[in-house]
Amino acid sequence: MKKLSIFFVCLIFIAPILFISGCGEKSQRSAYQLVLTYDDQTQTAQGACVIDYFNNSENAFDNLMFHLYANAFSQQADGSVCKPSNEDKTYPNGKSYGGIEISSVKIDGNAVDFSLEGEADMLLDVPLQTQLFPDEKIKVEIDFSLTLPNANHRFGYGENAVNFANFYPIACVYEDGKGFMQDGYISNGDPFFSEVSDYTVSVSYPQEYILACGGDSLKTHQNGKFITSTFSANNVRDVSFVLSKNFKKLSQKCGDVTIDYFYYADEDPQGSLDTATKAVKFYSESFGEYAYSNLAVVQTNFVHGGMEYPRLVMISDTVSGEDCDYVIAHEIAHQWWYGVVGNDEYNEAWLDESLTEYSTALFFEKYPEYNLTYQQIINGAEGNYKFFLQIYTKIEGEVDSSMLRPLDEFATEPEYVHNIYTRGILMFDTLRSQIGAKKLMATLKGYYKKFAYQNVSSEEFVAYFSSKAGRNLEKFFDSWLNGEVKFVYA
Ligand SMILES: [Zn+2]
Repeated sequence: MKKLSIFFVCLIFIAPILFISGCGEKSQRSAYQLVLTYDDQTQTAQGACVIDYFNNSENAFDNLMFHLYANAFSQQADGSVCKPSNEDKTYPNGKSYGGIEISSVKIDGNAVDFSLEGEADMLLDVPLQTQLFPDEKIKVEIDFSLTLPNANHRFGYGENAVNFANFYPIACVYEDGKGFMQDGYISNGDPFFSEVSDYTVSVSYPQEYILACGGDSLKTHQNGKFITSTFSANNVRDVSFVLSKNFKKLSQKCGDVTIDYFYYADEDPQGSLDTATKAVKFYSESFGEYAYSNLAVVQTNFVHGGMEYPRLVMISDTVSGEDCDYVIAHEIAHQWWYGVVGNDEYNEAWLDESLTEYSTALFFEKYPEYNLTYQQIINGAEGNYKFFLQIYTKIEGEVDSSMLRPLDEFATEPEYVHNIYTRGILMFDTLRSQIGAKKLMATLKGYYKKFAYQNVSSEEFVAYFSSKAGRNLEKFFDSWLNGEVKFVYA
């Protein structure tokens, strides 16, 4: 996600999948079939999710766990999705609640007693009659209904568009030695963690709407006053779509990749599409080919600057001009860092967010026509970070400048934004000056190829970068990540 804070304003500011998935990688993964009907009169949706769940761990399971992130929007979870300071922007028509209700769960065709757990029922616990062993599959069928909040957020409807993201039951990642990772929704950052899976999504919606999605379109047909569109997206760690009655669409090719720009209020839509196309081109050349056949860049009502999903990025209709280019370049870099190379965004947010923000600086270094130089970005980041330290020291007496901590341990949004984004840029810039630009770019390329479609830990990241740099970078990363690297701001 790209947060546009007051501090950031100061900044201004294909290869086929097999190519990078490589031989001998995990060949089996879970498959989701989602069927959803959206009723815009009641702002509800009826859904069914059939999951061919594949146990890719080394442990036998007695149960399965799923995140129900949509319940973060419920009354019970009041406050989960945004800070009080963002409430007006999130709920322009007053507080509104939504969520997901599970009506039945079947395992291999047999109804089971499931339970809802965690804060605000954000977890679904499904018991298994017989253990699921490693490399075994099981069929899980979940029927559910959604109530959409009137909210400019990942899940919700606003004035111009309806966002369907993080709305369906998605399997918790199982980590050997830790079990199912059950971290809940929090307003800081993007609190998500999932494995790549294959998806088929069939969504029915009133015929006045246009669907923006980042999948391969399989079929579309009219059904009375409803349109049903089916699309697939394989080897992705999440799926999302946006509906709007007002969408216009521009498309452009970047090699074999089609970039679709859905928008309703952009004074220079071709300029935004050009920025998106340049981003796909630059990151493909720099890090490795974009992994899918298309990318949807979608303008929508969204409280922050933008939000990344595999094959789809949301761009807030509140950003324009230079900010819009920055957000587009940032969100598209996430296709590489988060989308293909994944990580636990709750506990190790820096892995994708810091690298994505630094990749954005590299984008502007490549394209001087935006009149934002790499050095301006670095200088801006340094100035902003020092300003943040100064203000926070004055207010709080001290500042926690560590980057590697769970999202719930960042006390405020500025603390999160400045340590993860701003300090993150400065860390990678320092790394570049120490190991050289050529080595850094070669390392990023190798990192993308080696860890494609996996989840990386901080330890794996540091070990890989050390091996490619030809020197032990453990101390370097440790001192930045744990906050030891200090800045003099007086
Ligand atoms: Zn981001």
